[in-house]
Amino acid sequence: MTAADPQSESESESAVETARHQLERAAAHLDVDEGIVDRLRHPTSVHRVTIPLERDDGSREMFTGYRAHHDSVRGPYKGGLRYHPEVSEEECVGLSMWMTWKCAVMDLPFGGGKGGIVVNPKELSGDEKERLTRRFAEELRPVIGPMTDIPAPDMGTDPQTMAWFMDAYSMQQGETTPGVVTGKPPVVGGSYGREEAPGRSVGIITREAMAYYDWDIEETTVAVQGFGSVGANAARYLDDLGASVVAVSDVDGAIYDPDGLDTTDVEDHDESPGMVSGYDAPETLTNEELLELDVDVLVPAAIGNVLTGENARDVEADMIVEGANGPTTTTAERIFEEREIPVIPDIIANAGGVTVSYFEWLQDINRRAWTLERVNDELESEMCTAWEDVRTEYDARDVTWRDATYIVALERIASAHETRGLWP
Ligand code: GLU
Repeated sequence: MTAADPQSESESESAVETARHQLERAAAHLDVDEGIVDRLRHPTSVHRVTIPLERDDGSREMFTGYRAHHDSVRGPYKGGLRYHPEVSEEECVGLSMWMTWKCAVMDLPFGGGKGGIVVNPKELSGDEKERLTRRFAEELRPVIGPMTDIPAPDMGTDPQTMAWFMDAYSMQQGETTPGVVTGKPPVVGGSYGREEAPGRSVGIITREAMAYYDWDIEETTVAVQGFGSVGANAARYLDDLGASVVAVSDVDGAIYDPDGLDTTDVEDHDESPGMVSGYDAPETLTNEELLELDVDVLVPAAIGNVLTGENARDVEADMIVEGANGPTTTTAERIFEEREIPVIPDIIANAGGVTVSYFEWLQDINRRAWTLERVNDELESEMCTAWEDVRTEYDARDVTWRDATYIVALERIASAHETRGLWP
């Protein structure tokens, strides 16, 4: 492909460019002040920190960390912390924009933030990860807090990382402050059901989308790319409802059983890395082959930019539900639109994570834990309300599911900006 080829141009698009393009598409359907749209193209601020780490051998190494604050018109910044070698300022800004829309479509009183460290967490010992996390919390302390910016887990971070982060912040503040991060283990103020929530919401939204198209869930086949927390919980939820989950994958490859896999028998990547590709299934496939399987529903739940101009024409699924953040490039999105394949976007499908983060924050403020049953009941109700809001826009306009979702979010954010006004 040459540099002049429009496909390769768009394939190198960064998260922030994709996010801006999606914002502009939604704005074209609404009568929103151009100044507000322009404001939303940019983050409020981006914090860049240097984090010195003492390695286990006593040497010192510097790491770069970021925290992007996109918009807080509806409430404190909210969003995950990612530990990954490809973390960059642009990626954090793009992901923080998606958090703004995600919180708005769920009608949560939060804005959007995102951060991370440029590091391969697999190359850190447990002690190094703890020291790096504590120092990162200290560097970010001036710009975060339970009423200003509340981080959470994302790729490469987990409940234990959030516990260290909360502990470092609390020790310096002189008071235990569980509400400064969400996604903690329940024993230190985390919410039951938080870890399963993003995958569970992918399952709930897939179920609602199937009902919209009058599909009998028991007659459907599903392929899930990525069997970490999101993919595994989505697959198990849909399996429980009677769908046939025929293929799942991890970084090393995919397993396939045309009669349906027993998703509880396959250990997820976090429980046991390498177990997916090591599982005794009738057939194995590459990740690329999984994306092109002839199934009813494809759930990309691993990393960003996996559905591209290169493979979108070969995708044979009848519907795509985004479990990961940003798995579909702009070029792929256009091809799916042309091919009339519905793509249910990440900002509603995996929004169960931030929704249960909101429940966790409420529990932390009130110092009162909810039961798992209450968490799951309230999650079900919040997801169905958001789906109804999006479906109403989808039915009322000639737009894609992504546009309809962005329209719901942008209307709420823009009217909050108009009502609050510009000051000082
Ligand atoms: N990192 C998750 C996401 O992308 C969760 C964010 C949160 O709970 O604040 O939605």
